[in-house]
Amino acid sequence: MQVHDIQEKIDQLKNQLIYWERHLKDIQNICKHDFHKELFYKRCLKCQKTEALYY
Ligand SMILES: [Zn+2]
Repeated sequence: MQVHDIQEKIDQLKNQLIYWERHLKDIQNICKHDFHKELFYKRCLKCQKTEALYY
């Protein structure tokens, strides 16, 4: 594999990552969260969104 091909592949993957992170955020934004308490954070059982309990 040429360096150029590898860089192209990395760029593709970055774009895919951005796409999927946005998609996940959209789902989490409309989720009616059902939070389950862990030690230092709470996690939604439906969408896996986590929020810190202590700041
Ligand atoms: Zn949720």
